[in-house]
Amino acid sequence: MKLKLLYTCMAITGIAGTAFAQETVDQAAVQKIREEGMNHSKVMETAFYLTDVSGPRLANSPGLKRAQDWAVNQLKTWGMVNSKLEPWGKFGKGWEVQKNYAAITVPYYHAIIAIPKAWTPGTNGPIKGDVVLVKADTTTDLDKYKGKLAGKIVIFDSQAKLTPGTKADLSRYTDEELDKMAAATMAPAGGARRQFDPNSPQMAARRKMMAMRGAISKFLVDEKVGLILVQGRGNYGTTFTTNGASYADTAKAVAPELETSGEDYLRILRLVKAGQKVTMEADIKTEFFTNDMQGYNVVAEIPGTDKKLKDQVIMIGGHLDSWHGATGATDNAAGSAVMMEAMRILKTIGFKPKRTIRIALWSSEEQGLFGSRGYVAAHFGDPKTMVLKPEQAKLDAYYNLDNGTGKIRGIYLQGDSAAGSIFKEWLAPFKDLGATTVTVSNTGGTDHQSFDAVGLPGFQFIQDGMDYNTRTHHSNQDTYDRLSEDDLKQAATIVASFVYNTSERKDMIPRKALPTLPPATTVR
Ligand SMILES: [Zn+2]
Repeated sequence: MKLKLLYTCMAITGIAGTAFAQETVDQAAVQKIREEGMNHSKVMETAFYLTDVSGPRLANSPGLKRAQDWAVNQLKTWGMVNSKLEPWGKFGKGWEVQKNYAAITVPYYHAIIAIPKAWTPGTNGPIKGDVVLVKADTTTDLDKYKGKLAGKIVIFDSQAKLTPGTKADLSRYTDEELDKMAAATMAPAGGARRQFDPNSPQMAARRKMMAMRGAISKFLVDEKVGLILVQGRGNYGTTFTTNGASYADTAKAVAPELETSGEDYLRILRLVKAGQKVTMEADIKTEFFTNDMQGYNVVAEIPGTDKKLKDQVIMIGGHLDSWHGATGATDNAAGSAVMMEAMRILKTIGFKPKRTIRIALWSSEEQGLFGSRGYVAAHFGDPKTMVLKPEQAKLDAYYNLDNGTGKIRGIYLQGDSAAGSIFKEWLAPFKDLGATTVTVSNTGGTDHQSFDAVGLPGFQFIQDGMDYNTRTHHSNQDTYDRLSEDDLKQAATIVASFVYNTSERKDMIPRKALPTLPPATTVR
C-alpha cells in the first residue's frame, strides 16, 4: 500500500509539477467577465423568477416544474443550445400545499405558524377538534387512546425550551478561519471511505425509535385523528421543515401533520398539560401528483469550438429543488441563479470556448442527491461497481454551488491537491472581493459528491455562512429577502472566470486516483 501511495504522489507531483508551472490567466478576459458580472448583473432577476414567481420548488411539484420550464426557456433566450429537461429516473409523487390554515379557538383565538409536513394529506375540508396530548413510549401505551382520538388534534410531549439566541444570525469567515482551512492537510488518497456498522448500539436505538414512530403513525391513521401537531425546529417564528413523509407511489397512508413553530407548539402543550381545554380549527388542503413520476434535471450548453478539445466538457451546477416552507431562496435558488448568471455572462461577452460548457440544475437533491446521481450514472459510470462510461474521460471538471447566498471565499479541493496551485492562480484576480482560499479538504452534503464518487473532479466553493444555518436552510424564512445581491454577483463572476480558465487551459484539471470502493454519500 505505502509503495502504491508513493507512486500515486509521484504521479500527482508529476501532474502537479506541470500544474505548479505558472498558470496563465487571461487578465483581459477576466476583466471583461468582471465588468459584465459586477456591473451588468441579472442574477437577482433570475433569483426573482426562481423564488417569488415559481414559488416553493419541492421535488416533482408544480412549483419546481414552473422553475424548470422558465430556466430552460431563459437559457435558450440567452443563446444556450440543447437547453432541455433531461429525465434521470423514477422519483415518485409530486405534492404541494393548496391551503394551510390552523388556529386555536378555545380558550381564545390565535392563528398558529405551521407548515404541512411534505407528502402528507390535507384535513379533507375544515375541521374543529380538541387537542389531546398523546404520550407513548411503547405500543402498549397506545391502547389507552383507542376509540378516543377520532377527529382530535394530537400533540406530543416535548422537553424543548426556546432559548434566546446569543450569536448574531449572520456570519462571514474570518481570516484566521480561512487560514486554518488553507493549512488543512490532504484527505486520504483514493477517496477512502468510512465503515458503517448496522449493528452498533446507536443504529439499534435508531431502528427502535423509527419502529415506534411507524407504530404511532399507523395507530393515529387507524384512529382517524383530525390532525397531528409536531414541534418544528427553530425559534422566533422560524420553523425548519423536516424530510417529510414518503413520496414513493407505494407509500403507506399517513395522517395530516403540521410542523409547528416552537412558540405556538409549546403554548398549546403548556395549556393542555395544565389541564386547560384547547380547541383548534384547521383547514389543510394538499395535492398529490402522480401523472409523471420521473425526475428531471435542467441542462443546457455553450458548445466548444476547438477541433481537439470541443468534445471535452466542463460542467457547472447546483440543485434547483427546495423544501416548501418558503421559496428556497438560499437553498438553492441562490446557487441555481449564480450558475445561470455565469452562463449568461460568458455568452454576453461573446466567449467561444475551446471546450464545451454545460450547466445542470439538479432535482431531488434534498431527498438524496438523486438528480445528480442519476445523471452521473447515465453519463459517467456506476459508483457501486466503478464501471465507467466513455464520457467519464471527457468530463474536465464540475463546479457546484449550494451553501447559501454567501459570496465565494475560495474552493474545496475534495482531496485533489494537484488542482490547488491552479485554482490559487485563478482566484488571485478576485482577492479584493474576498476570494483567496484553497483548502485540500472535502466538503459534503451536495451534488459535487456524485461526480467525486466516480473519480471525476467535483468541487464546491467555500462560501460565507451568512444566516444559512441560523435562519434560512430549510426554513419558512428562506425567501428572496435573504439573498445578498453583492454576494451573488461576486459568486457568478468568479464561477464564470473559473469556467473560462478551465475551458482555455491546455490540459484538463488533474484528477485524484479513482475511488477504490464506492464512497458513502451524506445529504444535508
Ligand atoms: Zn441545498
